[in-house]
Amino acid sequence: MLVVKKFGGSSVADKERIFNVAKRCIEDYEKGNQVVVVLSAMGKTTDGLIAKALEINPNPPKRELDMLLATGEQISVALMSMAFHELSVPAVSLNAAQVAMHTTSAYGTAKLKRIDTERIRHELDSRKIVVITGFQGINKYDDITTLGRGGSDTTAVALAAALHADSCEIYTDVDGVYTADPRIVKNARKLLEVSYDEMLEFASLGAKVLHNRSVEMAKRYGVQLVVRSSLTREEGTVVKEEAKLERMLVSGVAADKNVARISVIGVNNMPGIAFKIFNLLAKHNINVDIIIQSIGREERKDISFTVAKTDLKEAMDLLRENSTTITAQDVTSEEGVAKISIIGAGMSSNPGVAAKMFEALSSANVNIKMIATSEIRITVLIDEADVERSMRTVHDAFDLAD
Ligand code: ADP
Ligand code: ASP
Ligand code: MG
Repeated sequence: MLVVKKFGGSSVADKERIFNVAKRCIEDYEKGNQVVVVLSAMGKTTDGLIAKALEINPNPPKRELDMLLATGEQISVALMSMAFHELSVPAVSLNAAQVAMHTTSAYGTAKLKRIDTERIRHELDSRKIVVITGFQGINKYDDITTLGRGGSDTTAVALAAALHADSCEIYTDVDGVYTADPRIVKNARKLLEVSYDEMLEFASLGAKVLHNRSVEMAKRYGVQLVVRSSLTREEGTVVKEEAKLERMLVSGVAADKNVARISVIGVNNMPGIAFKIFNLLAKHNINVDIIIQSIGREERKDISFTVAKTDLKEAMDLLRENSTTITAQDVTSEEGVAKISIIGAGMSSNPGVAAKMFEALSSANVNIKMIATSEIRITVLIDEADVERSMRTVHDAFDLAD
């Protein structure tokens, strides 16, 4: 068997945790399995590196930021490999360039394109545990890129797909995927299984337990994932094509505070304007979520939408620079907002779901600023200060607790 095991930052935060991980991997190795370990940077290293960069330059060049951030994962893999050697197990650490994990050029948001497996296969065949940096890649200029925050999960899934691994285990600091972030909603319930589609919504809507692109990739290549704790032996959550165990109306609640609202005011009420606005943002890799267009008054209308808070400055600069082309009279923004979403595959055929969510929010006196729906999710934009309270209220309203 070939197993890919990914450990997040908190699982390798210090010496004890590193040895704990090494020992769990050795259990697999001693069963005769081939073991590939994917690691994130230790603890809050990546946050620390970003803070260092901002001390030097509040707007660091993205190429240089990636060069810096990728060092975090390199520390983890080197130390982990040393731990294996200390425990008398042969191991080798590899970074993205050594493996050759090829990505698109977009620094900070690179996408994995192709992974060369030759070196990894060679090391596995010589009975080494192969310890690989998550989160990073190299682009066509041989520069280091990163996959976006939380991207090590995606590295693990991509490796599992490329190596046709028999299992892909994501170890973290909670023992599975819950109906809501268990740190916020204390009585959240662990899901034994969750479908790719639901997990993708969960991840895209703020449940950072898995990087959204890792789920996308798992679905595309049919990689079954298990999310488990690195500190306990609890059974985790299986992420797979069809989760049959629990056909729930609503499977969970997610929140995302990395949100800001932009309003493009007074654009011409004519064909092509929305295209121009969103094409401009798309060309710069800026994702847009909830979109609302006001009914035109006279010749003009307003278009409002949300972007990630981390993209706000770039988006505002772009829209202002292009205000003539997009015919905007003004462009405004609002921070201090957050998204709350409910997710569930059974939602589309049940008309009362949205009403129930809005009732719960209104009884908690939470004002809804924007609404978006799809077949399997309902998202509302609210004040950031209301997030935790709203999550618990909505979680209770749908009886999701243990
Ligand atoms: P890692 O460093 O292991 O990648 P992350 O911090 O990226 O870990 O993700 C794990 C965290 O995700 C948990 O500590 C938890 O607070 C958060 N989380 C958010 N939503 C959920 C959810 N629905 N189920 C489980 N964890 C969640
Ligand atoms: N170290 C990176 C981050 O903190 C990648 C990851 O943890 O998955 O975002
Ligand atoms: Mg993570």
